[in-house]
Amino acid sequence: MMNENLRGKVAVVTGGGGILCGAMARELGRLGVKVAVLNRSEEKALKVAEEINQAGGTALGIACNVLDQASVIAAQAVVTEKLGPCDILINGAGGNDPRGVTSKETLQLEDITCPDAGVKTFFDMEVAGFDYVFQLNFMGTFIPSQIFAKQMAGREGVTIINISSMSAPCPMTKVPAYSAAKAAINNFTQWMAVHMAEAGIRVNAIAPGFFLTEQNRTLLTNPDGSYTARAEKIVTHTPMRRFGQPEDLLGTLVWLADDRMSGFVTGIVVPVDGGFMAYSGV
Ligand code: NAD
Repeated sequence: MMNENLRGKVAVVTGGGGILCGAMARELGRLGVKVAVLNRSEEKALKVAEEINQAGGTALGIACNVLDQASVIAAQAVVTEKLGPCDILINGAGGNDPRGVTSKETLQLEDITCPDAGVKTFFDMEVAGFDYVFQLNFMGTFIPSQIFAKQMAGREGVTIINISSMSAPCPMTKVPAYSAAKAAINNFTQWMAVHMAEAGIRVNAIAPGFFLTEQNRTLLTNPDGSYTARAEKIVTHTPMRRFGQPEDLLGTLVWLADDRMSGFVTGIVVPVDGGFMAYSGV
């Protein structure tokens, strides 16, 4: 069923070739939004765009690296020419990388006094590895926002939706760069919301709880499909006792995208987390 308010609008979804943002792109396509799927790997972008087109929607898959200003400017030119100016920007490109992760949850003194090559402590993290994860998640939101918001300013019903994480309000162990970058996204969401309010651009974020995707599959499941100790810990800490499904995000997405429903909402981060953030663990 089309959404009459969203129909014909143009959405740009970065990371739209991925699991969560692919589901968002398909949902917007289903509702009649023209969708530009921007993804570092072109193959994934084209696949999602193809699925939207096959289902009767209008979509374009474009190879784009959100960390490269020239690449985002080039993508913007294609989107504007083929679909029109961007109305809805979803900053979804992001994720973790082994270079931004410590092996253990907490620092053990023996790992300093008797270093083991297989253990990466905080002190073994390379600046370049930390920087890559921080850049991808934070600058990968800043750069497309700067480029696309310029053509949104002064138009009606335009909005930016950032993708945060439960690691923003309270950092997850092992992933300091990812957590710091997602916390920065929350802060930047508020900053942009204030800065752009008079120009008519609403800016909000969605903070997914824990979803099983390719990015975290090896951290959360064993080769036989059973949960790892970390996955058990997450589910134990999630009052609804399950991982999220990509579809769990779609109602919040459509609410934030549609100014008839959320036209006075800006500067917030909406948790979609099965109660994770509300639970102290006790
Ligand atoms: P995913 O790996 O399936 O999707 C991420 C997509 O971003 C991939 O298609 C990847 O190719 C693309 N990408 C990576 N670097 C890029 C770059 N430089 N330029 C353009 N595209 C790039 O991951 P996902 O789980 O669907 O995550 C989507 C978003 O949701 C991320 O921002 C992630 O941090 C966030 N998130 C995920 C979870 C979860 O549990 N999976 C939880 C909270 C937040």
